[in-house]
Amino acid sequence: METKEFKAESKRLLDMMINSIYTHREIFLRELLSNASDAIDKIYYKALTDDTLTFDKDEYYIKIEADKNTRTLKITDTGIGMTKEELESHLGTIAKSGSLAFKSENELKDGHDIIGQFGVGFYSAFMVADTVTVISKALGSNEAYKWESAGAEGYTITPCEKDSVGTDIILKLKENTEDENYDEYLEEYRLKSIVKKYSDFIRYPIKMDVTKSRKKSDSDNEYEEYQEEETINSMVPIWRKNKSELTDEDYNNFYMEKHYGFDKPLRHIHISVDGAVRYNAILYIPEKIPFDYYSPEYEKGLELYSSGVLIMNKCADLLPDYFSFVKGMVDSEDLSLNISREMLQHDRQLKLISKNISKKIKSELTSLLKNDREKYEEFYKAFGRQLKFGVYSEFGTHKEELQDLLMFYSSKKKKQVTLDEYVSRMSESQKFIYYATGDTIERIEKLPQTELVAEKGYEILYFTDDIDEFAIKMLMAFKDKEFKNVASGDLGIEADEVEKVTAEEEKENKELFEFMKNLLSGKVKDVRISKRLKSHPVCLTADGEVSIEMEKVLNMMPNNQNVKADKVLEINVHHDVFASLKAAFENDKDKLTLYTHLLYNQALLIEGLPIEDPVDFTNDICKIMV
Ligand code: ADP
Ligand code: MG
Repeated sequence: METKEFKAESKRLLDMMINSIYTHREIFLRELLSNASDAIDKIYYKALTDDTLTFDKDEYYIKIEADKNTRTLKITDTGIGMTKEELESHLGTIAKSGSLAFKSENELKDGHDIIGQFGVGFYSAFMVADTVTVISKALGSNEAYKWESAGAEGYTITPCEKDSVGTDIILKLKENTEDENYDEYLEEYRLKSIVKKYSDFIRYPIKMDVTKSRKKSDSDNEYEEYQEEETINSMVPIWRKNKSELTDEDYNNFYMEKHYGFDKPLRHIHISVDGAVRYNAILYIPEKIPFDYYSPEYEKGLELYSSGVLIMNKCADLLPDYFSFVKGMVDSEDLSLNISREMLQHDRQLKLISKNISKKIKSELTSLLKNDREKYEEFYKAFGRQLKFGVYSEFGTHKEELQDLLMFYSSKKKKQVTLDEYVSRMSESQKFIYYATGDTIERIEKLPQTELVAEKGYEILYFTDDIDEFAIKMLMAFKDKEFKNVASGDLGIEADEVEKVTAEEEKENKELFEFMKNLLSGKVKDVRISKRLKSHPVCLTADGEVSIEMEKVLNMMPNNQNVKADKVLEINVHHDVFASLKAAFENDKDKLTLYTHLLYNQALLIEGLPIEDPVDFTNDICKIMV
């Protein structure tokens, strides 16, 4: 008999299971029962579309049997079974290997995280068993096969006998150790409580022989024990239950059971609608970003059930992109069962449900923002970016819906604030909602361009995300207040005194500015006197629609069109440096050339833009040092 090796990734996961010090080993049962239930679902679903098959409810069940003598635990199902090839491919490799690849070596070494957070599936059996045996007969086949493995060394597959279609999983429990008692998984009460905790809602009966006692005879008070088969799960799906019957823990367990995420959900939404279209839904807002969330591999969608039967794993049409982080399921009796993917897209009922769901999510988030700011901020840290994308994408179709959910860091409050909060604090004289862009809050804090606006006492929103300015451009205004980049041409700030001085100075130094402008031709559009600088000598600003930040973002994109902002070098005429410029203009044009290049390069650095020739720049600095 040939022993086959596990695929590398599987072996790694398996090693982790075998050596795990994980404390929630009990979840192995949840995994095996959920596989059994999936397998019955598959037959049920087949029967719906295949006339030669019938589904008699009584014939489908899962059974748990514990044998203390042999220390084995057996889980039997009457599901679809596996062929020899399926045993090979489904149990020899893990479907989740892709996700595992995303995890760092360190995380894998720890193991703890993976087991607790991932749906580890079938291999979790090795947390409690030395040997796992799977005996299976596939639907439509007259051969049965036995898959057996004692861990990382590999597995064997041999033909065997089995009467009926379905699968038996037999676990030979590990020997007890000082710290671990595996015998508990042979105890009736323990098995029952694990089933109740994780698998209560499974739609098929989970049967077990339970010990009961009865009076021996009428005459005396002696009792005898006997065994009777009992269904130990309630079989009512959680989404059909009354909200008042359910605890947070129930919802969290369902989230884990379904492998919706690796985290605990931040919030759950339980919906029961009995209107134009009837449906139940349980939705979750995750706490943490899925590791692949902002990658193309991430697939949005909700599980779709029709009258309790799973018909699609990830129905994308149920969620708009901007809520793609939402997990969960929808069950409706108004959907036809054997509906195809193409038909679903045009299904009127589905559209209604989807619209309704979006509304509920929006209102849940709004209430979170209002009533539990801390949690909302946590949520926003993870998924705020997606909301901003939502404002920007599809030409701003959804901006009205999403604008109230946005938050940005405020110069005044030193934390995230909503646009509504900002506008409510605006003074009479303030015409615009001001914002500044940069890589980090610390960097924006130091930007020379913010000086005038800050001095005026106006609040400034800090945009540190590359999507921020694009989203805001799409919004254009909030409550009739337009947005204004502090680095844009006209700041809308009345300062007569400043205007007058500027006009005079401009006239006086016209030739100096012309000279500098010529030196920087092709690099900046203009050299001007700054109205916004207070203590810094120079800064770069932009005329027109494209800001410097936007130029940076656009040029990082793969299909970059080499978009350029119309840059302006602004000079602070009240700074001592300006006196030096004037002197150099009178006496030493070479010096002025040197100074101009230095100032321009400094302004680039402040903006976080690359200097075209760093060697030239450092040579220039050396020149003024010696
Ligand atoms: P998942 O359930 O997420 O696909 P598992 O590791 O739990 O991952 O199971 C791997 C695969 O093995 C399943 O997708 C299924 O095809 C097969 N399988 C496991 N248990 C059973 C079973 N009891 N009956 C039929 N197929 C099963
Ligand atoms: Mg599974």
